[in-house]
Amino acid sequence: MRLIVPYPGNFTMQGSADAGRMQLMNCYVDLHSHSSASDGSLSPQQLVTQAARAGVKTLALTDHDTLSGLAQAQLAAQQVGMQLVNGVEISVSWNKRTVHIVGLNVDPANEMLQKGLQGLRDFREWRAQEIARRLQKKGIEGALEGASAYATGDLISRTHFARFLVEKAYAKSMRDVFRHYLVVNKPGHVAGDWTTLEECVSWVKAAGGQAVVAHPARYRLTRSKLLRLLREFHEMGGAAMEVVSGSHSRDEIFTMARHAADCSLLASAGSDYHGPENPWVKLGKLPPLPENCTPIWHDWALAA
Ligand code: AMP
Ligand code: MN
Ligand code: MN
Ligand code: MN
Repeated sequence: MRLIVPYPGNFTMQGSADAGRMQLMNCYVDLHSHSSASDGSLSPQQLVTQAARAGVKTLALTDHDTLSGLAQAQLAAQQVGMQLVNGVEISVSWNKRTVHIVGLNVDPANEMLQKGLQGLRDFREWRAQEIARRLQKKGIEGALEGASAYATGDLISRTHFARFLVEKAYAKSMRDVFRHYLVVNKPGHVAGDWTTLEECVSWVKAAGGQAVVAHPARYRLTRSKLLRLLREFHEMGGAAMEVVSGSHSRDEIFTMARHAADCSLLASAGSDYHGPENPWVKLGKLPPLPENCTPIWHDWALAA
């Protein structure tokens, strides 16, 4: 079943409008968010309540590599009268890089998707031990236990290691931890070996969902490599890409809107909210989609 989201008249923006400054508007649709089922800091209920308070009418919960927060989130959404789209953000390896694919309107009971995600969580367990081992070699003790204490869902993420490292004052901020510890050529880095793009798209489709390239401007791909990713994704049956993202600048939004049109992809919009500790990403506040975009929700049917 697809959901129709009322298409708000103010949800498009002229290419020439508002030179320079990013215009954040009230948005009714937010198709990318995280809860404590993965690496967000709010429980699914708290997230849904916050989103409803911020004026969001349709929220997708898209936790990393797990569907375990969806049932709780659906219950909370019913209570506050908000639409909750069943989503997931899947970790993929493409050309030796990690890219993220959001699945929207997936059936959480689908076995193929569930098995695929379980494999990714198993990899996360192994990777967490490996990260801790490498940090220990640099004199950082207890990282696995410390990170695990922050992992209250059913998976462990680099975000949990980052929280531990900030707590123990190895770094001043989350951004600093990533810069100094958890990325390529740094002591706590372990290369990702996730699933393939093709497999990921096939899981999302098997579960009746639509696949969306998450935050495409964040991968530090050259323009031609990014277009290659988007074209391959479209050929495999991918539906859309995030044009508006909490991590896209105004210029990136317009560039991504052109790429979506050139690659025959629908456009999605999502904050990538992880919790109130990142005050620059807000629920219910996103720039509108540029006018040349076809929103992924253009043919979604209203929930009964
Ligand atoms: P993982 O999927 O376990 O490799 O962790 C990736 C997660 O780390 C992302 O989903 C973000 O939530 C977080 N992350 C990645 N880079 C940064 C950064 N520079 N600052 C803060 N959080 C980050
Ligand atoms: Mn995350
Ligand atoms: Mn992501
Ligand atoms: Mn995300």
